[in-house]
Amino acid sequence: MLAEIITIGDELLIGQVIDTNSAFIAQTLNSIGVSIYQITSVQDDRDHILQAFKDAESRVDIIIITGGLGPTKDDITKKTIAEYFNDTLIRDAAVTKNIEEIWKKYVRQTLLQINKDQALVPSKAAVLMNELGTAPGMWLEKGEKTFVSLPGVPFEMKKLLVNKVIPKLKTKYKFPFILHKTLLTYGLGESTIAKRIEAWEEALPETVKLAYLPKLGSVRLRLSSKGLVEDVVRQNIDREIEKVLPLIEDAFVGFEDEAQSLEMIIANRLTQLRKTLAIAESCTGGNVAEQFTQNAGASAYFNGGVVTYATESKVKVLGVPKDLIEKHSVVSAQVVEAMAKNVRELFNADYGLATTGNAGPSKGDSNAEVGTIFIAIATKDKVVSESFMLGAARKRVIKRAVNKALEMLEKEILKN
Ligand code: ATP
Ligand code: MG
Repeated sequence: MLAEIITIGDELLIGQVIDTNSAFIAQTLNSIGVSIYQITSVQDDRDHILQAFKDAESRVDIIIITGGLGPTKDDITKKTIAEYFNDTLIRDAAVTKNIEEIWKKYVRQTLLQINKDQALVPSKAAVLMNELGTAPGMWLEKGEKTFVSLPGVPFEMKKLLVNKVIPKLKTKYKFPFILHKTLLTYGLGESTIAKRIEAWEEALPETVKLAYLPKLGSVRLRLSSKGLVEDVVRQNIDREIEKVLPLIEDAFVGFEDEAQSLEMIIANRLTQLRKTLAIAESCTGGNVAEQFTQNAGASAYFNGGVVTYATESKVKVLGVPKDLIEKHSVVSAQVVEAMAKNVRELFNADYGLATTGNAGPSKGDSNAEVGTIFIAIATKDKVVSESFMLGAARKRVIKRAVNKALEMLEKEILKN
C-alpha cells in the first residue's frame, strides 16, 4: 500500500518552518505497513495545491495533507479541496461548538467571523474532530482513494493522525505487517562494522533489508521486513539478529526500539546497583550531565556535576593541583584523572567522570591539537583515562566527546 504526503504552507517553502510533520506521518504510516511514495511541499496557492492533489491521486491510494487550515489561510485550502471534489462548503455544527468551547476556555476574546468560518467543511467530508484546536481534520473519499486533510500545528496533527486517521485507514484497507528492529552499537566506526558483517549482509534473504544509521560515535543497524503474516515477519528478523549479534558483540548495547539509549542503560544499571555518579566537565560544558538529567529519575543516581571551564576553576573548585596543570597542561591525562577523582570525592559518589580537551576552533589554555579530548573515570579504587582525537568542528567534537564519555562509563559500570 502506498501513500503520499502533501504539506501546504508558504512558511515551509521559505525555510521558516521545518517540515517535521512529514517525518512523523511517514513513521506512523510505515508502522502500519504503508510506504510513502512521495512527499511534496506546496505554497498556499490554489493552482499548486490542485496540481499536487491530481499528481498524488494518479500515483497512490492514500493522500495525507497537512497545513493551510489556520484561520487566516483556510480560505484557500478548504476552497481548493472543495473545488477538487466538486463540492461546496457547509457549516458543521459540532465543529462550531468545539470552536466556541475553545474560545470560552482559552481565548476569552471576541469570536471573529474568520474563527467561526473554521467550522466550514466540504459537504462530502467526514469531520475528524480536533479537540486541541479550532481547525478540524477532514476525510474525503473517491472510491478506493482517500484524502485526509489535517491541521499543520504538529501536536494537533499527531493526535488526529494517531487517534482518528490510522484506525479509519485500518478499517478501509488491508495492510501488510512491517517490522523494524534497530541494533544500537557504540565504539566501532561504520566501516569497521560493515567489514565485520560483510558476509552476513551479503547472505541476507530478500525479505530482510539492512540500513546503516551512523550518529556521531554510534552506529545503528536497522533491520526491516514486511509481509502479510506477522509471525513470519518476526521470525525473519529474529533469525538474522541471532546471526549478526555475535559479530558485533563488543559494540552492541541494546535495541533502540526498546528505548535503550546508552544513557538510559547506564541510568538503569546505576539505579539497580544503587550506585551514584558525579561529573566534572570542561570542554563538554555540561552536556554529559544533561544526558542524564533530561530523563526522569536521575536523582536516584546522579549526585551532581560542575563545569570547570577556566583553568582557575579546575584549581579552585576541584582542587586540581596547580603544579600538576603547569607540568602537564590542562588537556592531559594527569589533569582529567585528578578532576574525576576529586569530583567523585566532592559529591561523595561511587563514580566520578571528567572531561577536558580542546573543542576548537582555536587552541585554548594548552597546546593540545584541536579535537584532543581526555576522559577519565574514577572509582573508589582507581582512575582510568583515555585520550581521543575527535576532529575539528566544535559541535561535533563536543557530541562525540559526550558519546565517548558515556561509552567509557558504560564499560566501567558493566564490570560490576
Ligand atoms: P498560519 O497563519 O499559522 O501559518 P496556517 O493556515 O498556515 O496558519 P497551518 O498551515 O495549519 O495553519 O499551520 C499552523 C502552524 O503549524 C504553522 O504556522 C507552522 O508553524 C506549523 N506547521 C505547518 N506545517 C508544518 C509542517 N509540515 N511541519 C511542521 N510544522 C508545521
Ligand atoms: Mg500554513
